[in-house]
Amino acid sequence: MHDDLLITSLGINVTETADIWLDGVIKRPSPNFNQRPDSEDVDLLVIHNISLPPGQFGGDSIELFFTNCLDHSLHPFFKEIEGVEVSAHLLVRRDGSVIQFVPLNRRAWHAGRSQFEGSENCNDFSIGIELEGTDTCPYTDEQYIALAKLTSDIQQLYPKITNDRITGHSDIAPGRKTDPGEAFDWERYRSLL
Ligand SMILES: [Zn+2]
Repeated sequence: MHDDLLITSLGINVTETADIWLDGVIKRPSPNFNQRPDSEDVDLLVIHNISLPPGQFGGDSIELFFTNCLDHSLHPFFKEIEGVEVSAHLLVRRDGSVIQFVPLNRRAWHAGRSQFEGSENCNDFSIGIELEGTDTCPYTDEQYIALAKLTSDIQQLYPKITNDRITGHSDIAPGRKTDPGEAFDWERYRSLL
């Protein structure tokens, strides 16, 4: 019995992968993540937008929100999202700087109830990237450049994320989510890949 336990624990050690943090990004570890059901099964990239408060750019509200440190008394909208625990793997700020909140091999909480080509719960098998922005305000040149670079880095690590497996939050949660919105130029993004 003792031997069995030892073998089991060795097995877990062998299969557990090291946490994947990208180089050249700002690291802000979020507590809002858990294990993927199958760590080998990462084959979707989901593009989102966020701004806090909505439509206001700059400041550190998003990173505070994703790390459960936002002071919800500071703005009426912050009250509405009090107690909400979410995250994304990555955030691309307006100036193209990138913050990573969750290791890529872990399951970030960005997609919610969702479905891609018949597979539900996209958080299980996807990587989520937030662009600081709104559905209607054009994203910056720096954001397109940074997003394309991130996408390429991620595709190197996860070759199953082919270009046809990059999608928007609105596509996997239609009727519930609208981001990254009409402002996101998919053609421009895809031309950079
Ligand atoms: Zn979203």
